[in-house]
Amino acid sequence: MSDYLVEVSDLKKWFPLQQDFISRLLGRQQLFVRAVDGVSFALKRGEVLGLAGESGSGKTTTGRVVLRLEEPTAGTVRFDGVDLASLGREELRRMRKRMQVIYQDPMASLNPRMSLGESIGYGLRVHFPQMSDHDRHTKVIEMMEMVGLSPAQFFYSKFPHQISGGQRQRAVIARALITHPDLVLADEPIAMADVSVRALLLDLMNRLKEELNLTYLFITHDLATAKYICDRIAILYLGRIVEMGDLREVYAHPLHPYTRALLDAVPVPDPHQRRQKPLPKGEIPNPINPPSGCRFHPRCPFATPRCAEEEPQLREVAPGHTVACHLVE
Ligand code: SF4
Repeated sequence: MSDYLVEVSDLKKWFPLQQDFISRLLGRQQLFVRAVDGVSFALKRGEVLGLAGESGSGKTTTGRVVLRLEEPTAGTVRFDGVDLASLGREELRRMRKRMQVIYQDPMASLNPRMSLGESIGYGLRVHFPQMSDHDRHTKVIEMMEMVGLSPAQFFYSKFPHQISGGQRQRAVIARALITHPDLVLADEPIAMADVSVRALLLDLMNRLKEELNLTYLFITHDLATAKYICDRIAILYLGRIVEMGDLREVYAHPLHPYTRALLDAVPVPDPHQRRQKPLPKGEIPNPINPPSGCRFHPRCPFATPRCAEEEPQLREVAPGHTVACHLVE
């Protein structure tokens, strides 16, 4: 058995841009939003890999394509050694129960007309249709206790609007884990939670990872959050990974100017050490027509003429630490 649960190679996801009637009539070239544009990484069993970057960096689309919630435009995703593109519909459906998602907005991801017990047990209905009502109920109760919705019998019949935001997110976590997946895509799972419960939810996710042998792909725009849960981190910019490595190593020695800027923008609670700086000027450029050369060059304070012409490739600068920048060669 390979050490790697997920192996992603040169993954691309381009969305075709809707053409208006005139453009179609004139046979204008089809344009694409290059949301993910050549991403490669591997995820070990039991590991937490963070995908981080500003909005528009392609982190959520990468996660969705890895789980085959979106079809890739190019590239391969191997899950437990199996190329997902080689699977038929039914095989993919069976594989799906081994991969689950925790979404950012619990209110939108729980059916308001279903009780928590029904919502959490729904995955068992879909993937284990032979399971008896009694067994399903028992499993749901166990999972609710496990995520801290306790006493579970009390919460079982509650509806999403009757509980707090933190409890809703616990229900979303329970729903994702009820089928005992191997891989969990956690898409900004605490971004909408109250500041007061964020640390508790991260603790919960850490504990469940150990107890249930989970592997997380953790998507976040916030490097401070990633620090509490990720083993490794991949920094994305405009559909590409610009730096990747062990989280402690990357945070202690960030090499790409974009990583440094993201880390500098993290608020520091100690007023004596305040170092929060704004992100580099400008916004992420349009992914329809990314800048030539290094995609970060229009915002990079260290850009040279070479940066606008030649795209830097990801290269290993220390064991397991890769960077795509001409300055780091
Ligand atoms: Fe900046 Fe050039 Fe490095 Fe890109 S390659 S991050 S523009 S220095």
